[in-house]
Amino acid sequence: MFEPVTMDKIVSLSRRRGFVFPSSEIYGGLGSTYDYGHYGVLMKNAIRSEWLRSMVQERDDIVALDSAIILNPRVWEASGHVAGFTDPLVDCRTCKLRFRADKLEDSQCGRKPSKRPGEASDCDLTEPRQFNLMFETQVGAMQDASSTAYLRPETAQGIFINFKNVSQLARRKPPFGIAQVGKSFRNEITPGNFLFRVREFEQMEMEFFVPPDQAERWYEYWIAERLRWHKSLGLRDESLRVREHDAEERSHYSSGTSDIEYLYPIGWQELEGVANRGNFDLSQHTEFSGTKLEWVEQDGNRYTPHVIEPAVSIERIFVALLCDAYDEEVVGERDRTVLHLSPRVAPVKAAILPLIPRDEGMATRARALYEELRRFHSVEHDESGQIGKRYRRQDEIGTPWAFTVDEQTIEDETVTVRDRDSLAQERLPIGGVRAWLDDALAREWHPPARS
Ligand code: ATP
Repeated sequence: MFEPVTMDKIVSLSRRRGFVFPSSEIYGGLGSTYDYGHYGVLMKNAIRSEWLRSMVQERDDIVALDSAIILNPRVWEASGHVAGFTDPLVDCRTCKLRFRADKLEDSQCGRKPSKRPGEASDCDLTEPRQFNLMFETQVGAMQDASSTAYLRPETAQGIFINFKNVSQLARRKPPFGIAQVGKSFRNEITPGNFLFRVREFEQMEMEFFVPPDQAERWYEYWIAERLRWHKSLGLRDESLRVREHDAEERSHYSSGTSDIEYLYPIGWQELEGVANRGNFDLSQHTEFSGTKLEWVEQDGNRYTPHVIEPAVSIERIFVALLCDAYDEEVVGERDRTVLHLSPRVAPVKAAILPLIPRDEGMATRARALYEELRRFHSVEHDESGQIGKRYRRQDEIGTPWAFTVDEQTIEDETVTVRDRDSLAQERLPIGGVRAWLDDALAREWHPPARS
């Protein structure tokens, strides 16, 4: 019977296999901050490049941007972040911990972790007060109010303030979009649940500028398109849903916001947000900067475009993919832990394994195959330990295929290819491996049924 994976198992596999480590570990760590190891970096790179491929490379109507992390602080006044990018905070006078007042149900009491804050008899919570989530810093040698600046809490504002540059130089007219990937920083009151809520994360945001009368249509389009994309990365249909915010939950300027939610081990939670932001951002920056951010049509008609924004972090996709892919199975007599990751996001696409590494014929052929394939794909050559152990190591990091060079290779120049999901093995000529792998990577992939 299939049992949903726990976050603890994901954390432990990530650590054991070098995807993600707690940060600053030799100094005792820094709560909810993580560093990515080799496979984590490869997987993040794959997620980022899939996003850029679908947003920019495969479209005519979206261009890329990379704006600065520290912007003129007036940007954050105009955007409303200085005044309003806050979460309600409560302190517990007993355990001295702080909690988000609107997420108490997701928090644990500092003295009795089985209870929520406020539930134990000696909890003593203060009234909620607003806490700004932006990290402040000083720019330059002067350390006074005039030098205060912020680490960006979202990448979107860097896009809005470049609207004029990009729309003129990229020769695009609405509807068109600007896409950006980069680090964002939020001083979250209660970070946690592994990478799900961290203080430093990599956002992938796209601002799509449209004529006002087309906003509703594009809002619906982007919800459907982003849902399709998450499924194309291998996330299962039954673990994804769209939840529309009601009017109270939405920002005052938004006429529609929907979350694409994923069924994480902690329940249904926001994976990605899609918002219809109206003309709020461009109007605010026009007012605060004095630069008109509008579109002028050939007949002289002018308007401020409306904006549809799909926004997601690599971290939330990373956790969702690991949870979706994780499985523990008994194969033959043995247990195996396997990540059924889509080949497109798997950190390593194929392993090349000489069956008997000290056999020179096998070793040379395996090495040559590895050197050929690594020019095009992320592949790994592994010659340490029993072959079964090597297969299991690759299963745990989600490598979809393993090419094994064995005795028969020496006789007829063929290798076996082992499929991670079905465990089927077939033989193919060593000279055809590269084309076989290219084809296999281009094929559509669906997660195997859960047992
Ligand atoms: P939440 O309600 O969970 O705090 P939010 O509604 O404030 O999130 P947005 O401002 O809409 O989040 O951010 C857009 C996206 O950025 C989110 O859908 C999520 O994928 C990602 N994101 C936001 N905050 C974090 C965080 N602290 N850690 C990791 N990813 C985050």
